[in-house]
Amino acid sequence: KSSINIRNVNRIYKDSDGNKVEALKDVNLEIKPGEFISIIGPSGCGKTTLLRLIAGLDKPQNGQLFIDGVPITGADPSRGYVFQQGSLFPWLSVRNNIAYGLRARKVYRKKKDTIANYIDLVGLKGFEKSYPHQISGGMAQRVAIARALINEPKALLLDEPMGALDSFTRADLQDKLLELWKRDGTTMILVTHDIDEAIYLSDRIVIMTPRPGKISKIIDVDLPRP
Ligand code: ADP
Ligand code: ADP
Repeated sequence: KSSINIRNVNRIYKDSDGNKVEALKDVNLEIKPGEFISIIGPSGCGKTTLLRLIAGLDKPQNGQLFIDGVPITGADPSRGYVFQQGSLFPWLSVRNNIAYGLRARKVYRKKKDTIANYIDLVGLKGFEKSYPHQISGGMAQRVAIARALINEPKALLLDEPMGALDSFTRADLQDKLLELWKRDGTTMILVTHDIDEAIYLSDRIVIMTPRPGKISKIIDVDLPRP
């Protein structure tokens, strides 16, 4: 569980003609530990940019981002990132995709039970040896979520992870996410175009304006969850 603090953040890109693209302008947001936040807004309003800044994959021109009061200076496994689709390593099995972070941190040998637990947790028992091209889109996204969660992130950053799924698979994955969130209390930041999804999952919904991306409104959802 982590708090995330975003203060006066600006991110300006340059397009191919060298013109300035103001992706984020004066963004301020405080996310409480264990909170489930959704970010919605039109394409190009800076949602992915904001997630990448929180992940430490990119830096703002102005302003600062903090996790638990500590400045975010780069990517690290305390912030897991789940992309829209196609982010699995195609040459690795389901099991080895999920185990990837453990191998990278050289703790793989000690954690075989942990890998089995995460496979189980996302409902992929029996598919350990399958490869990404052999499983469905919904399953692939569950692999991506398990791959992020196995590093025990304090915050999980989800960039439209259900955007490419059919509505049944989507509902299934939404419930899985809620279950994991209730279990671990991980701070969740979800980018979505699906307002129903945002209402169903979140404590608060952040609405962003078209470029330059600003926060226009923050809504307390305050609905009972299943
Ligand atoms: P969203 O996720 O809300 O669709 P993005 O954060 O991807 O928005 O992009 C915000 C704006 O910044 C868009 O206008 C996009 O074209 C622009 N942009 C994003 N990344 C780059 C980049 N690397 N170089 C130039 N412009 C970019
Ligand atoms: P096990 O003892 O479970 O068989 P291994 O360490 O022998 O596990 O590796 C299992 C598979 O994972 C092998 O096919 C190996 O090539 C592959 N592998 C090994 N190292 C890595 C790594 N760093 N990232 C991804 N896959 C790896």
